[in-house]
Amino acid sequence: MEEHSSKQRNKRNQKRKHDQNRSPENEKRQFGTQKRIRHFLIGALAIILTGGGVYELFPLFAESFLTPQMELLEFTEASGEMRVTFLDVAQGDCTIVQTEEQNMVIDAGNNHQGETVADWLEAQGITRLDYLILTHPDADHIGGADNILRTVDVERVIMPDVANDTVTYEEVMDLIEAQEIPVDFPEVGDRYLLGDAGFTVLCPRPEEVSEEDLNGSSVGIKLVHGVNSFVMCGDAEAGSEQNMVHTFGDALESDVLKCGHHGSSTSNSASFLQKVNPTWAVISCGRDNSYGHPHVEVLAELQDADIQVYRTDELGTVTAYSDGQEIFWELP
Ligand SMILES: [Zn+2]
Repeated sequence: MEEHSSKQRNKRNQKRKHDQNRSPENEKRQFGTQKRIRHFLIGALAIILTGGGVYELFPLFAESFLTPQMELLEFTEASGEMRVTFLDVAQGDCTIVQTEEQNMVIDAGNNHQGETVADWLEAQGITRLDYLILTHPDADHIGGADNILRTVDVERVIMPDVANDTVTYEEVMDLIEAQEIPVDFPEVGDRYLLGDAGFTVLCPRPEEVSEEDLNGSSVGIKLVHGVNSFVMCGDAEAGSEQNMVHTFGDALESDVLKCGHHGSSTSNSASFLQKVNPTWAVISCGRDNSYGHPHVEVLAELQDADIQVYRTDELGTVTAYSDGQEIFWELP
């Protein structure tokens, strides 16, 4: 019963969020229509130039009308600095995004890392998080969330609508309930502003959310600040990546990829890497972890594509600074 009322509250919060976003969404839709008209005109010109070869046109039609492409936030007007810290939480994930106005944490590391995360936030003088994204309810992502919730004020939690039958999960959900924090179960394409940055939800699709596949239920985002961008998708795996490629196509391209699932070969598929086409890849994993993360196949793919890799198991905490135009790295 309690859970039911919580879900109703979540729906209401989601609706409120959509209402707030109504005008930019409409602008984007209009922009999409203009783009389709432009594609059509280019197509018509191609008919004339190719002497009426309608088959030449088919890819254009396919792209414009048949592929359900979704637009995502491609840039923002950046006025300050954004800092993205990939915190060393051993085998697990914890990424902290700080803009001058607002802050966000994506995942909280494992139970025994909760104090590390909370101490780090305190040391940074962070007392409030505008968003806490819990990509999926596995312990290496939500374990430390109780420490975060006890240390700072969390304005909104974003997570997939899926439970995990663990004490860790129950503890985190009990705290979220007790503190009456609104929870969003996001939909693909949802957009959020974070100070002078913003992000679009890339996954999961509703049919991907399942208690049998928590990794596949992961919430993934593309974060943009100025022209700089970061793709971070928790433990989303190849199937989810294919859906993102299908839905967003070339718009996935980003400067930084936080490799899926700690650099596992079940994620980081070749076609996804090609579309994201990052300059830098960050892998968050523990030294000598029992899963063999990151997998050698993934490291080979990244090396072949000439992508600079930063690993938290080798380097510890790494931080990217964005001024809206360029990205600078602080390595230990
Ligand atoms: Zn994980």
